[in-house]
Amino acid sequence: MKNNFLLDLVATYDSPLYVYDAEKITTQYQKITLAFSSVKNVRINYAVKALSNISILKLFRTLNAGIDCVSFQEVSLGLQAGFDPKDIIYTPNGVSIHEIEKIAAMGVQINIDNLSILEQFGNVNPNIPVCVRINPHIMAGGHSKISVGHIDSKFGISVHQIPHIKRIEKNTGMHINGIHMHTGSDILDIEVFLLATEILFNAAVQFENLDFIDFGSGFKVPYKPGDVGTDIDELGIQLGKRFNTFCKTYGKDIALMFEPGKFLVSESGKFLAQVNVVKQTTSTIFAGIDSGFNHLIRPMMYDAYHHINNISNPKGKERYYSVVGYICESDTFASNRRIQEISEEDILCFDNAGAYCYSMSSNYNSRYRPAEVLVKNGKAHLIRKRETMDDLLRNQIEVDL
Ligand SMILES: *Cc1c(COP(=O)(O)O)cnc(C)c1O
Repeated sequence: MKNNFLLDLVATYDSPLYVYDAEKITTQYQKITLAFSSVKNVRINYAVKALSNISILKLFRTLNAGIDCVSFQEVSLGLQAGFDPKDIIYTPNGVSIHEIEKIAAMGVQINIDNLSILEQFGNVNPNIPVCVRINPHIMAGGHSKISVGHIDSKFGISVHQIPHIKRIEKNTGMHINGIHMHTGSDILDIEVFLLATEILFNAAVQFENLDFIDFGSGFKVPYKPGDVGTDIDELGIQLGKRFNTFCKTYGKDIALMFEPGKFLVSESGKFLAQVNVVKQTTSTIFAGIDSGFNHLIRPMMYDAYHHINNISNPKGKERYYSVVGYICESDTFASNRRIQEISEEDILCFDNAGAYCYSMSSNYNSRYRPAEVLVKNGKAHLIRKRETMDDLLRNQIEVDL
């Protein structure tokens, strides 16, 4: 998406603004399906929590993807977007058995990640097939907050507890039809990922009636110029081959599943914000924008890097800035960052704003959440209006005491 096109969108829809490129989402989806084309049966389930706008979900449906949901509300959004329940997998953590039973009754594939609920569910619903989430105890992923495979992680059933899972399966007469892992985000090293898959294959042979193995996600995408992401083609070659061998010994062409979020949508998104003030202090030049961690929390929460361009002055001489928000507490998007010279009212463009940006936004400081635009074939579609005062007040009840 060209700078002038993005500037026109801000002129039309105001700032701050999220803009998503449908072509980039499509290319990423095709890239992963192509990488695993050696496998007969592949399902890519988009992880809805990364970016859950219903028009984005509909785009994934046209691509023939399934979806991975972590809440009843995400499942409902998926159904509203037209997904068939059988194309939805529900992978919650720490939810009640009531929510799991409600979703299972809709015909959605459920994935259970603890022994207690597995046993309770199997006792009451032995006829509903269940996938189990295994923790292979592989330390993968970037930031400690997004690495979920370690020994003390709250996610998954330990791979050492498979005899226990087997006992529950036998005692309840339930059918375990899939096994799953998701070790965390930002996995760069495919050797580590392959090590975890090997543990999952060893677990898989212990189950007689599998229809699929779900290898989760966590693929890394480039953030900085010159960065490399997970080598998905190489993973496709190596894991595809291993998977086909597994199917041969297992005696059945089961499905290989993934549930990427970031890989599919991160790079498609741009976040556009306007500079309110340029403030020179004794040691720093701050560029203060009309946004904050209420709209994009990843830098504050995960120390995430988002590349920033001044698209109002793309050829400008680069200087060092700290880009900060307007929230009344520490609210830093970038420190000591080289950016094309910034003037007040310039528009800054944040890269990698597709995944975990809008979906983690809030109304903190009673600010409105931004509008969202989806661009397809050069045409901009408004897919979410900017909030108004009515949205802030919707569920509030005024009482005069
Ligand atoms: C968040 C999540 C994903 C997506 O992870 P990405 O790093 O965005 O690809 C996949 N599966 C589960 C179970 C998740 O919780």
